[in-house]
Amino acid sequence: MQAESRAGRLSSRPLGHINYLRETLNKNHMEFISPDIANVNLEDFMIEALQEAEVADQAGELPIGAVIVIDGEIISRGRARHNEFKNQLRHAELNAMLDGGDLLWKNYHRAILFTTV
Ligand SMILES: [Zn+2]
Repeated sequence: MQAESRAGRLSSRPLGHINYLRETLNKNHMEFISPDIANVNLEDFMIEALQEAEVADQAGELPIGAVIVIDGEIISRGRARHNEFKNQLRHAELNAMLDGGDLLWKNYHRAILFTTV
């Protein structure tokens, strides 16, 4: 599976808190997650959000990233861009929502936001 190979490729990176996240999701939050995404690999999307956080970090921003998923596909991405825009509102999550545009607007009820904070 493509998703597994991507996760495998990234497994050598310093993403130790993914394990914590997985345990937290499994133990505490899975019961709240819609059955629609019961078969979605949540870890893969968190890895994508962490990659956005890395980009933000490398740009001198707060290391925070986000992705928005609809029907198992990433439809938008965001990262902290406060310094770039000199704007306290440019959170990773808000930037991901802005990036989602019309597709997110029309499907927000099925959208899932993954953020690193
Ligand atoms: Zn935020």
